[in-house]
Amino acid sequence: MMTQEVGPTNPFGTLVGSLRQHAPSVTRLALDYQRPHDLRRATELLSVEGAQALGGGTDLLVTIREGLARPEQLVDLRGLPGIDTIQRTAGGGVRIGAAAGVAALAADQTIRERFPALAMACDSVGSPALRNMGTIAGSLCQRPRCWYFRSGIPCLKSTGSTCPAVDGQNRHLAILGGGPCHAVHGSDPAVALVALDATLLLEGPQGARSVPIAEFFVLPDPDPRRENVLLPGEFITAIELPHDSSGGRQRYTKVLHRGAWDFALASIAVTRRLDGGVRLVLGGVAPMPWRVNPSVEEDVASAPLADDDLDALADRALYDARPLSDNDYKATLARTLLRDAMAFAAA
Ligand SMILES: Cc1cc2nc3c(=O)[nH]c(=O)nc-3n(C[C@H](O)[C@H](O)[C@H](O)COP(=O)(O)OP(=O)(O)OC[C@H]3O[C@@H](n4cnc5c(N)ncnc54)[C@H](O)[C@@H]3O)c2cc1C
Ligand code: SF4
Repeated sequence: MMTQEVGPTNPFGTLVGSLRQHAPSVTRLALDYQRPHDLRRATELLSVEGAQALGGGTDLLVTIREGLARPEQLVDLRGLPGIDTIQRTAGGGVRIGAAAGVAALAADQTIRERFPALAMACDSVGSPALRNMGTIAGSLCQRPRCWYFRSGIPCLKSTGSTCPAVDGQNRHLAILGGGPCHAVHGSDPAVALVALDATLLLEGPQGARSVPIAEFFVLPDPDPRRENVLLPGEFITAIELPHDSSGGRQRYTKVLHRGAWDFALASIAVTRRLDGGVRLVLGGVAPMPWRVNPSVEEDVASAPLADDDLDALADRALYDARPLSDNDYKATLARTLLRDAMAFAAA
């Protein structure tokens, strides 16, 4: 096993320079860095307590710097064969390797033609540099962006016993599915993948398993520290898009505060499948991509929609919305996005 003191001679030298600058109490950070070349070795390495999967590092290295993650061993999965490929499957779907780049997905011809909602969502992520470094699995497993959590203020997601955001800064937090933690999931691609009924292929100490993406993310109740169902040592190897989700009409729309290079205040993925089915999934408003009640999707699929119908369906879709003191505007944004997406799907 290779043990490295993080410093200028390894890939994380910049991180450590920054650590020393921002956290004077941290004088030395010892990290193992491993880059396995086969799945068995990757599984072995990740089974060790303190090990953590590394993709492009755009979130993990930041959370280490912020003191929110303290892995002892980073297992860089980008050396695994086929881990960054995007391939058609025999059944007419597509298999995306876990370390496929967000930019590569946005540019891939097959994804653009057959799963455009995913291409659009990937294209909307952050900045060009983030899209080039970030991987699709890293995007799904990124930690939430709540200001308190990211600033190291104790809360339910870290070492605290209450959520200071409830009576504090909650402008960017959830209006659906929140409580006791109200942080939203930040991934744009995740929203599109839920609308496309993707399946995640996982590997871990207990063996391989597959999980529909809708069952991958979890709400903060009962355990506000968890965001997904990954077991200790388990990691994503690939994502499969089914043939049934390809084609038809698809779109991803994102509302930003600054106009570019930012997380969604609210977003929506909409698909009208070739079999007539409709999927509507909201982003930026809940602790996980938020699929609208299927009964609303069915009504959108089954009828021509007048303005009144769109209003009534949007109200039904947001029936469970519970804005906090300062984020009622998200309900208005979500309503507008829903009306627009439903009109698109019904046209
Ligand atoms: C300034 C800024 C703006 C951003 N804006 C957006 C935005 O607009 N939209 C958006 O969607 N995202 C945005 N992001 C988030 C960014 O997309 C993520 O940081 C990125 O996708 C993470 O990918 P990565 O490969 O770098 O993951 P890493 O940083 O390497 O890892 C992130 C997490 O995923 C885990 N992980 C990595 N690979 C695997 C795997 N195969 N299996 C299991 N777990 C794994 C890691 O252990 C870690 O917990 C932004 C980030 C920043 C810093
Ligand atoms: S919303 Fe969640 S992450 Fe943010 S302060 Fe509350 S408990 Fe912490």
